[in-house]
Amino acid sequence: MKKITILLIGTNNKGKLKEIRALLPKYIKTLSTSKFNLKSPRENGKTFEDNSIIKSKYFSKKTNLSCLADDSGLEVDILNGQPGIHSARYASDKQNKNASDNDNNTKLLTELAGVPDPERSAQFCCALAIVTVGQIETKTFKGTCRGRISKSETGKHGFGYDSLFIPDGYSQSFAELGPKTKNLISHRAKALSKLANFLNNPYEGR
Ligand code: IMP
Repeated sequence: MKKITILLIGTNNKGKLKEIRALLPKYIKTLSTSKFNLKSPRENGKTFEDNSIIKSKYFSKKTNLSCLADDSGLEVDILNGQPGIHSARYASDKQNKNASDNDNNTKLLTELAGVPDPERSAQFCCALAIVTVGQIETKTFKGTCRGRISKSETGKHGFGYDSLFIPDGYSQSFAELGPKTKNLISHRAKALSKLANFLNNPYEGR
């Protein structure tokens, strides 16, 4: 892949955008989708990877820029991996088509009512897809972060399920730990670290 120095971050999620910008190598100039006023595409893939590719190709095609997209979510073991790729719209239904983070967290707590701590294990997953202008090449990178779902929301930082997720080795939620700690250990940090390695050595393995 050609050395990339300008990259569109293909997400309309401000929480993701902030984390991706903080974690990408500083020599890369980033652009956000808000400049282009683009809606997100329909995510009809079966995996995080599928959906990250759908998003990166869509935003790249619309802007003619190389694009990095993130598809991510929370997999709860006792719920057989749900909400998984449906994390953003977990509490959506006919009455409430655009469930908020708050609605999703409330639904998750309801689903896990009465489940004891040792059975509340879960993981965050992140798939990143990068596609170059003209969509000649696509590469994907994955990261996971294991932890458990707490019994009530705590903390003010972050977004999504951060106020309910306590990473392994810690006693506070991502929303309490804040960006400094989250960006060292998160699913997104792990995937971005693999991506950064690749961006620094794009010709390796050829
Ligand atoms: P996507 O836009 O379809 O990838 O949706 C991702 C959803 O997963 C978000 O809306 C959040 O609900 C959840 N999610 C993914 N990553 C995180 C994270 O780092 N913290 C909290 N929630 C996350």
